[in-house]
Formats: sequence, structure tokens, C-alpha cells
Amino acid sequence: MKMICINCPKGCELDVERTADGAVSVAGNACPRGEEYGRSELVNPTRMVTALVRVAGMRKPLPVKTKTAIPKGKIDAVLFAMHQTTVQLPVKIGDIVIRDVAETGVDVVATANM
Ligand code: SF4
Repeated sequence: MKMICINCPKGCELDVERTADGAVSVAGNACPRGEEYGRSELVNPTRMVTALVRVAGMRKPLPVKTKTAIPKGKIDAVLFAMHQTTVQLPVKIGDIVIRDVAETGVDVVATANM
């Protein structure tokens, strides 16, 4: 499988394969971060998710993000949970807005003060 490493602007083209013995081989990476990225993209791809959530009594939404990357297959469920959420002010950067979003074990946190 071909993929581009997104860990830095160099954008190395990776060739990631599962070998006959079940191991993962990564080629084309210029540094160890590319090998780790290729391996995790094949075995368990993850993404950070950012969005805006409603704020009670205000038109301006609150920007939020998952605290860490979540499994790619859970993105729709995470976005749905964010869409269903309305926060009460005040909120500070880093405050937890949703705990264990979509049963990922990851919290959604505020990325702005309001
Ligand atoms: S493999 Fe290393 S050098 Fe290449 S894009 Fe990824 S982080 Fe950058």
C-alpha cells in the first residue's frame, strides 16, 4: 500500500506491506517517524478530530478537539457526539467538553476561552 507520511512537510512516499509472517514492512521513509506512521496507518489508523460545538445562549460556537487521536473508524460517531453537545459558559482552554467521546476512551476538550 502506498501512502504519504504526514508527519512533516517532506511528505515521504511510503510503501507499506504486510509480510507473509504477519509483520509490517515500511520502505521509503527518511526517518523513524515515517516507519511508525506507516505501521500504525496499516494496523490501526487514527486521527485527531476538530469541530465546533454549540454554546448555550450564544450564536458563536466553541472550537473543540479530541485530546488525542482516535480510531479512524470512530470519526463519524465522534462528530455526531460533538454535534449533539451544547456547552455552558464559562469555558477555558483544555476544559473537558465530552468525556470518553463515543466510547473511545478519549475526551473532547475546548481549544478556546469563552
Ligand atoms: S518519514 Fe520522516 S522525513 Fe519523511 S515525511 Fe515522515 S517524518 Fe518527514
